[in-house]
Amino acid sequence: MEPKIIQTNAELQDWIRKINSAIIFVPTMGGLHPGHQYLIRKAKKSKRKKSQIVLVSIFVNPLQFGKDEDFKKYPRNIERDAELAFSAGADAIWTPVYSEVFPGGEDSHFKIQVPKNLHNQLCGEQRQGHFDGVATVILRLIKIIKPEILILGEKDWQQLIIIRRLFQELSIPIKIKSFSTQRDESGFAYSSRNAYLSNSERLNALSLPNAMKEAKNEFAQGKLINLKKIASNLERNNLKIEYIKIVDAFSLKERENVNGICLLAAAVKCGSSRLIDHTFLMKRKPIIAIDGPAGAGKSTVTKEFAKRLGFIYLDTGAMYRAVTWFIQSKSIDPSDLIGIKNILKDSKISFKNSNLVEQRIFINNIDVTEEIRSPKVTSLVSSIAKQHFVRDLLTTQQQLIGIDGGIIAEGRDIGTAVFPDADVKIFLTASSKERASRRFIDLQKRGYECSNINDLEKEIENRDKEDSQRTIAPLKKAKDAIEILTDGMIIEEVLEALTDIFRSKIPEEVWPTPNL
Ligand code: C5P
Repeated sequence: MEPKIIQTNAELQDWIRKINSAIIFVPTMGGLHPGHQYLIRKAKKSKRKKSQIVLVSIFVNPLQFGKDEDFKKYPRNIERDAELAFSAGADAIWTPVYSEVFPGGEDSHFKIQVPKNLHNQLCGEQRQGHFDGVATVILRLIKIIKPEILILGEKDWQQLIIIRRLFQELSIPIKIKSFSTQRDESGFAYSSRNAYLSNSERLNALSLPNAMKEAKNEFAQGKLINLKKIASNLERNNLKIEYIKIVDAFSLKERENVNGICLLAAAVKCGSSRLIDHTFLMKRKPIIAIDGPAGAGKSTVTKEFAKRLGFIYLDTGAMYRAVTWFIQSKSIDPSDLIGIKNILKDSKISFKNSNLVEQRIFINNIDVTEEIRSPKVTSLVSSIAKQHFVRDLLTTQQQLIGIDGGIIAEGRDIGTAVFPDADVKIFLTASSKERASRRFIDLQKRGYECSNINDLEKEIENRDKEDSQRTIAPLKKAKDAIEILTDGMIIEEVLEALTDIFRSKIPEEVWPTPNL
């Protein structure tokens, strides 16, 4: 396709009709730089269907500038921008004038008001109405373009959080994909406003990313972050501080201690230019919890997702199955609690190749990978798994395996009991009919005689009931889990849903991976 520059709304609508493709939309205010180009390249790469095209808009939105801000001098150079956008892979750019976006003029269009708890933090505290202007224009642009995917940068993190919330609250069926801040070789974050800096200002401004980097390194070594020290260091470099804070990365509320993912964020004035930067702080690598009933397809997608992320894969069901197998092999009655305690207290469960796809499970050095899938073990496992001692024992082991994070664990109680502070919680489920037919195929593949599918469905329902009704750590959706109902979805679709949820909770900067 010939790269195209589109100006008017009518031209745009005509083009949209003719291309008859899903649009991946990268909104910008122009002044393009390698950060924008990175987003465009990522947009291009996220093209799954052939008939998707990347559209970049260039519109300096007056609504998001305060009275004394730099609307007039904001860098405008359409030729240069077009060249950079097309060379990064954009299929078209749209450069509307104000009246194309807001045909009724300033006083006659609806305005979005961002909730105070998100607006009046960080940049919004200083820039009254800024995010209302951002949200208003984004909503307007997506109504005109009707894209399938919206691409945003993590550089404007607060903006990203606000737009994600807006889409969620208004149930806007457009996917948001976000990508990390790009920096030049000196570590300076690309920004259109960098063009305002003189050489000497630029040297001073470099102390901002340097301070972020240093703080992050110190934090990784277990040291406390001293905001006052960072502030005085920046001031020594002639930067005027607007704010420097540690906040929760999602609520944006200020935090004394780092829990979950936090943001060390700062805004400074360097001469007349306002610069922002941030870095993410986390005490460990991310943890993903995947819970759900039997046969929901957890293992298949969890294994594959672990591989794509380079995470440890932990099948906690396999651990409950292994102890069940062991109890059976010793002919101990499942109701003999003392007997069970005695043989399990010195038992050791281990995984080999625990971060690769082919994982084998051992109990006391006996490889039981195949045996634990037998119908005999399946029929008994829930009654063993509800016992206090067994749960305590295995939960502790699971927590130990995930102590540094970088793990994706599947089971029944991962998000509620094993890793209640998991960063991503998913409840994966499907109708019992669908689950029974998947189990049926799975059992056949493993070479077991299958009873009929209706019996299998009943057995699955009974197991779910037993798992959900037990007193300790029952199967249930964690309050903060996102449910995926997988009926009729192919594996790749479930993986795509997982990827989107993962990326909405874990910034690319925290866990960059080329495989997503
Ligand atoms: O997932 P899978 O079918 O292999 O799990 C087998 C059984 O192990 C479940 O039905 C449940 O009784 C038990 N289990 C559990 N808690 C977990 C994982 C599995 O109680 N986290």
